[in-house]
Amino acid sequence: MKIAIAGAGAMGCRFGYMLADSGVDVTLIDGWKTHVDAINQQGLFVETETDSRRYSLPAMLAEDARGAFDVVILFTKAMQMAEMLQKIAPVLARAKVVMTLSNGLGNIETLEQYVDRSVIYAGVTLWSCELEGPGHIRATGSGNIELQPMMSADMAMADRVVDMLNLAGLNAELSANVLLSIWKKAAFNSVMNTYCALLDCNVGEFGKLPDALNMARTVVREIVLVARSQQIPLTEEMVMHTVQKVFDPRESGEHYPSMHQDLHKGRLTEIDYLNGAVARIGEAQGIAVPVNRLLTQLIHAKEAQ
Ligand code: NAD
Repeated sequence: MKIAIAGAGAMGCRFGYMLADSGVDVTLIDGWKTHVDAINQQGLFVETETDSRRYSLPAMLAEDARGAFDVVILFTKAMQMAEMLQKIAPVLARAKVVMTLSNGLGNIETLEQYVDRSVIYAGVTLWSCELEGPGHIRATGSGNIELQPMMSADMAMADRVVDMLNLAGLNAELSANVLLSIWKKAAFNSVMNTYCALLDCNVGEFGKLPDALNMARTVVREIVLVARSQQIPLTEEMVMHTVQKVFDPRESGEHYPSMHQDLHKGRLTEIDYLNGAVARIGEAQGIAVPVNRLLTQLIHAKEAQ
């Protein structure tokens, strides 16, 4: 299979080198010219816990993207996806599968504006990665992928996609209800990303605050009501279990969530696709969502500062 990864930042590069290393024909697509040039000229430099290596991978600028690819994996931030989809229209026209594993709510709806639902695969991933600079990533830890075709017409193709990801060691499995997993992860991120960014602390430091669990629950309770209005069987326990788990310093206590890092680097955040999306859907459904609305406003205020 020929694969294009559109949005070759931290995660796109991690998936790109792992797939290429297993023998898959991978092309990276990105809008950052210095990064694309560095990959084409010197290869993608990957640091892991145990070694560092250069991987030879073709990269192209999004505006020049052409060619036939069986699978396009989108890995922009949620708020960048529409612009990327516009740029790579010639590639999308021939793709058999267009996959999003980006965080947040609303990515499937964004994709539906550009491609037929029959080619859309959506999912969540617990892999992680950092972009250190042009053509350079730090890929530590391990993860998994849950994914699901949005229309189950061609399950043979779905099995081939999962087999390809597993051959690359990406630990993928088909899910029967990926929307629940997407909402669960969005709820978790709506707690952890937002509070750690606003309080300028890591996950462990937030967890030690006397009111941390109550603060988390207030956000989660609203999200559960909104999820239920969308026929998503999310429960408070599902989310709070994961929240409590990561407060343990042996889990990811010292981790600074991506929104914290985004604000520190002066970048926009994915807030409109987390608490912001919850507030938008909740208000449209007549559900009271004052906490998620306020957290969205506070993060936007931080972005503007
Ligand atoms: P990133 O910012 O490192 O990468 C995004 C890439 O997309 C960048 O290289 C950027 O140049 C490119 N891009 C953005 N808009 C573009 C446009 N219009 N045209 C062309 N190129 C464009 O982001 P990331 O950390 O890889 O995250 C991607 C998604 O995965 C996010 O939704 C994030 O929340 C999620 N995620 C990240 C991690 C992680 O550890 N980094 C873990 C799990 C999930």
